[in-house]
Amino acid sequence: MKTESSPKVMKILNEYAGGHRHLITLGRILAAVSAFMGLVPFYDLWRIIRIAVNGEELSRISGIAWQAVGIPVAALLVYIVALFCTHIAAFRVQANMRSRLMHRIVTLPLGVFDEDGTGKIRRTVNESTAATETFIAHNLPDKAVASATPVGLLILLAAFNWKLGLICLIPALIGFGFMMSMMGKDMQEKMAEYQNALDTMSSEATEYVRGVPVVKVFGQSVHSFRRFKEAIDGFGKWTTQYTLMLRKPMTAFMTCINSVFAFLVLGAYILSKGSVDSDIILDVMYYIIVTPLLTVTLTKIAYSGEQEMVVVDALKRMDSILNIQPLSEPAQSEMPKDNSVELRNVSYRYKGSSDYAVRELNISIGSGEHIALVGPSGGGKTTTAELIARFFDVTEGSILIGGADIRSIPQDELMKQVSFVFQDSRLLKTSILENVRLARPDAAEAEVMQALETAQCMDIIEKLPDGIHTVIGTKGTYLSGGEQQRISIARAILKNAPIIILDEATAFADPDNETKVQAAFSELAKGKTVIMIAHRLSTVVNTNRIYVLKDGSVCEYGTHSELMDKNGLYRQMFDEYSRSINWKVGA
Ligand code: ADP
Ligand code: MG
Repeated sequence: MKTESSPKVMKILNEYAGGHRHLITLGRILAAVSAFMGLVPFYDLWRIIRIAVNGEELSRISGIAWQAVGIPVAALLVYIVALFCTHIAAFRVQANMRSRLMHRIVTLPLGVFDEDGTGKIRRTVNESTAATETFIAHNLPDKAVASATPVGLLILLAAFNWKLGLICLIPALIGFGFMMSMMGKDMQEKMAEYQNALDTMSSEATEYVRGVPVVKVFGQSVHSFRRFKEAIDGFGKWTTQYTLMLRKPMTAFMTCINSVFAFLVLGAYILSKGSVDSDIILDVMYYIIVTPLLTVTLTKIAYSGEQEMVVVDALKRMDSILNIQPLSEPAQSEMPKDNSVELRNVSYRYKGSSDYAVRELNISIGSGEHIALVGPSGGGKTTTAELIARFFDVTEGSILIGGADIRSIPQDELMKQVSFVFQDSRLLKTSILENVRLARPDAAEAEVMQALETAQCMDIIEKLPDGIHTVIGTKGTYLSGGEQQRISIARAILKNAPIIILDEATAFADPDNETKVQAAFSELAKGKTVIMIAHRLSTVVNTNRIYVLKDGSVCEYGTHSELMDKNGLYRQMFDEYSRSINWKVGA
């Protein structure tokens, strides 16, 4: 596995490095040179010992000693230069990777960015690219050192006493064999599993922390702990299995490379045939000095393989983003003639899902009409709304805006036509002014103020320390769900698109907020084509038509009074809703 993927990984990394690839090569060569230089003191030491043992001229020692100090210092400097080269290249690779990912990400269908998707994308952009940075900046020069050192040692071994040298190599080679067997066995898959388990655990942890208030308020402990606990258990089980799998080969590897001493002493005894000879003692001493170096290098090589697998996995993760199909650009573009919306036989199936989320929808909305989508949770309301804004392309059928298929309308034109007010208003961590101005970056401050006023946001602005310049989410400025939704309505008002899609927030903290959101929305809806996903049925009574979605299909539609007369699902939902209202008032 390792030998197969190595050249491929380097090829991909070199591509990302562009002109900086030579710096990677230079860095690796310099690192190898510094490794060779690092061996010189061991040779010097051997010479000093020989002088001492043989009683030669002691004055020569000081020169050798200086060399033994000076050359490692020089080696260190060369190594620093090597790291310098690889770091520059690594930063370049990381920057290129991120910019390539970001360029691709902006072309992706909006539907990719659901909560799960954004987390994965964020982690890939941050962490996977960081993994390659560590690999190039540190692991590649380390690997060069780790490969050069045994070569240098081999030369030294051969130079002094090749028999002893060979003896040192026996356990090292056996250990290496064990290591290779360890790397071979579906290691890459294991690495991917490990990353996946880690991913699941960290996203569950985030979910869990977010859910703490709910858990506390509703005392739902058992249920809400479960997924997090499963993720931790899964990770624990995986690591245990992995550790157990590696226990034997790893023990064997460690035993072998640490048993060089034993082999050496035994070998020296056999070689000397029992008679003590100063040359043999000298050589054995030399090898005893050198073998820890061999052990350290071999261990380093073992771990560099692991790091490489992290990089292979990171590259795969990046590919999974780069391989997402962007929305097709139309060959021939069309412009909408009016603000009508029509769904013709629309079906949609989520990627990887076996069942259709919505099936054969036929919905026709005239210019300026207001319609509502209602129905039980999971019925397909959000999916339908997102299809209209082309978060993803329909699996079957077509959607027309102003008579033009939305797949033929240029992306920026479509975005000008449609405003989407999300259920969970996604405000950015910036000032309210900038948050609203996202809709139209060239809008003047006065226009933003006007939009905020129309959206009933003045009470929010007044209570904030810096008014519209207050940065959301800092210094304790947190807005309630209803307040956030009003601000995103202000954003939609500023954008002034002729078609509005609103996913109503499910719950409001207080009735005052609810009234204000509804007032803000009525302002926004004036003269527009409106598609609203309603949870409080009082808001749908006056719409032109209501579509009841259940299990992905429209099960009934019509005006409020028509549906009440039908005595179907809508009637049932409305009665239930009225009861809950009365219950609230009663309580
Ligand atoms: P609603 O908004 O009416 O509650 P949705 O449109 O969110 O319904 O969901 C409709 C169906 O599509 C449900 O069965 C849901 O499980 C499925 N679904 C929603 N989002 C996804 C997704 N990202 N991947 C796979 N299935 C999804
Ligand atoms: Mg929904």
